[in-house]
Amino acid sequence: MIEFKNTLCFAKELDKEDKISHYKKLFHFPKHNNKNVLYFTGNSLGLQPKSVRNAMLQELTDWANLGEKGHFNATNPWYFYHKFLKNQTANLVGANTSEVVCMNGLTVNLHLLFLSFYNPNKDKFKILCESKMFPSDRYVLESQVRLHGLNPKDVLIEVCPRPGEFIINEDDILDLIEKNKNELLLVFLEGVNYYTGQFFNLKDISAAAHAVGAYVGYDLAHAVGNVELQLHEWNVDFAAWCSYKYLNSGPGSVAGFFINDTHHNNKDIFKLQGWWGNNEETRFKMKNDFEGSDDVDAWQLSNAPIFSMVSHKVSLDIFDEVGIKQLCEKSKLLTSYLEFIIIQESSQHEVCNLEIITPANKERRGCQLSILTKGAGKELYDYLSQHGVFVDWREPDVIRIAPVPLYNSFEDVFMFGQILKKAISM
Ligand SMILES: *Cc1c(COP(=O)(O)O)cnc(C)c1O
Repeated sequence: MIEFKNTLCFAKELDKEDKISHYKKLFHFPKHNNKNVLYFTGNSLGLQPKSVRNAMLQELTDWANLGEKGHFNATNPWYFYHKFLKNQTANLVGANTSEVVCMNGLTVNLHLLFLSFYNPNKDKFKILCESKMFPSDRYVLESQVRLHGLNPKDVLIEVCPRPGEFIINEDDILDLIEKNKNELLLVFLEGVNYYTGQFFNLKDISAAAHAVGAYVGYDLAHAVGNVELQLHEWNVDFAAWCSYKYLNSGPGSVAGFFINDTHHNNKDIFKLQGWWGNNEETRFKMKNDFEGSDDVDAWQLSNAPIFSMVSHKVSLDIFDEVGIKQLCEKSKLLTSYLEFIIIQESSQHEVCNLEIITPANKERRGCQLSILTKGAGKELYDYLSQHGVFVDWREPDVIRIAPVPLYNSFEDVFMFGQILKKAISM
């Protein structure tokens, strides 16, 4: 264990030893008083890689020069474009290439996955979920339950933190799975909870769900590009994620979709059909009979949104080059440094009581720290914003800070501490 110091000199020393510090230069930063802001909201919208612009121009040029012929003759033929993302995506989430595809938006993908994996009957119909999920996920759950004529109150088993605690005790998840084993159809969790930053033990939870004959699916919006995942090895049934948070692919960009190989040819699993789910060879024959792809591509509906895939590909290529292992190594050190700085600065002041609610265990979190700001939170958030610090505010009283290993430095974290010091001593 390194002994951290709250000095600029020490932070710069850590940056010097950081083997991936040069990636910072590849991104555009918003400006405050003509200087780069301290950007800690990559968990909300990742920064733009500078190389996206030229990659976009390439497709604009091909579209201008080739028109419809670009489907097969563009530099990156559009007909196959979704396939150009498969290797990097599979590496990132620990999947086979046959198990992943990029399409639609995250919430749309969740609905598609629920249509496939949530088919309740009178014996098995319950879903285990977190009591405080991202609202969109909650809406998916409730509307999918109603689609089957059921009442969410009878279906959802909500696991919540114990009284006085902020994160979920995983034993409680395992106990609830066991207690509801006869009726449990699905366990559905956020891999990393958006609010607390808690990273669940997805492997153990998957095993527990399967032991009682339930499916397991995860929303990985805050996990992908942030923590190491092994979806195939962990026997996850399905997952989905967005690409504009840690994956830096731009606002509303195309989302990710995973279905374990074991389910692809299971005729009992319903899927909605569209022409892009038809296999590649006969798709343009325009026949009435659907001939589904034999992998996850069978779930595709529409032809691929090339422009959002362009920025996604640029970003995935960067992740593939760095490697998620190396990123996570830096991430653990960088977030621990932020934790040290926050605890040091806030302990200097009796009045200000900041409490980090994200797990202290480095294996059970990604880079985000969520800080409970008892009382003066909104003023603290406003002060930081006015001084060129991007963090985010979640009602009623939480500030989330994500030092992103791809483009945040140890110096960024030190500078944040200096501004925090001023903010809380006022
Ligand atoms: C960001 C996020 C979403 C956003 O959904 P979109 O369909 O991309 O708008 C949904 N769920 C979770 C858990 C998220 O973190």
